[in-house]
Amino acid sequence: TSLAACSSERETPAATGGATASEDAAPEAGGLIGIAMPTKSLERWNRDGSHLEELLKTAGFDVSLQYADNKTDQQISQIENMINDGAKVLVIASIDGTTLGPVLEQAAAKDIKVIAYDRLINETPNVDYYATFDNYKVGQLQGQFIEDALGLKDGKGPFNFEPFAGSPDDNNAKFFFQGAWDILKQYVESGKLVVPSGKAPKTDDQWTNIGILGWGSDDAQAEMENRLNSFYGGDTKVEVVLSPNDSLALGIAQALTGAGYKAGEGWPVLTGQDADQANVLNMLAGKQSMTVWKDTRALGDAVANMVQEIIAGDEVTTNDTETYNNNVKVVPTLLLDPLVVTPDTVEKDLVDSGFYTASDLGL
Ligand code: BGC
Repeated sequence: TSLAACSSERETPAATGGATASEDAAPEAGGLIGIAMPTKSLERWNRDGSHLEELLKTAGFDVSLQYADNKTDQQISQIENMINDGAKVLVIASIDGTTLGPVLEQAAAKDIKVIAYDRLINETPNVDYYATFDNYKVGQLQGQFIEDALGLKDGKGPFNFEPFAGSPDDNNAKFFFQGAWDILKQYVESGKLVVPSGKAPKTDDQWTNIGILGWGSDDAQAEMENRLNSFYGGDTKVEVVLSPNDSLALGIAQALTGAGYKAGEGWPVLTGQDADQANVLNMLAGKQSMTVWKDTRALGDAVANMVQEIIAGDEVTTNDTETYNNNVKVVPTLLLDPLVVTPDTVEKDLVDSGFYTASDLGL
């Protein structure tokens, strides 16, 4: 998806509802777009924010880009400020998608359109569009990777397996887990995947028990260390770990190294997501098997395009109007396709596309 409208097409005034009639009297081309991102501590959100900011500025908008240190209250007050500063559109990657209802009511009262970015915003009618990579597919790709890497379809096994899940307050996490579990569950049930820690969910909603709140690498490391100390040792080695993303995979790899696991000598199959730099380096070093890459540039391009469509009063591009129900309504969604990257495809996918330079990766 590319940035369709050029800035000369952007003279069209914003279609606001008249709640602030005096401001609307002399609409400026462009106007303010608010971007609320969860935290700077995760690599991807920095890339997401700066890419989208640059696109929108180039298209003639003013941009307020804010990071909230993973604190819900902070994100809410940042959004309030954007509303008070006269934002025309809010692009929000929420921390906890269930807590934004009241502030988005303020936005709706001023006819400000809201795009949920990457993570759906729940329990409110006041979210207009959602743009994301197909979250269920991300999990499916991780599950399929494990299935293929171990030869599970050919009846290989049993393998010692440890599953992890993402932050329970992040709406994406259940899709990631469900996508993977719909593939892996059968092997847990048949005994081809054995979970020495006993932490395999027994029902669909039990995944939250193994969710790492806040997606922190340190917490994932501590959890993996616990499992390794309590359930492994001697001849019992972990052979496969489902990690929903790279920040968790980084902590898990750290714990494995600490416990004496070595790349190329029985290092377990380990999944990830995001193609964070440290994880791509780990992949090249044999300490992570794959990552599901979601090109943040493509998501930014798509969202910048949506913003321009909204401002121009054009129909907004979406391609899924069925899947993402936020408990109040189905939010029209633009879904992009994620891609599996393995050590063998790093150069082709991540360097040739310009996502990283060869020197970023020591190539
Ligand atoms: C995003 C992932 C990211 C995770 C942690 C999820 O909502 O979709 O790309 O790894 O949050 O920030």
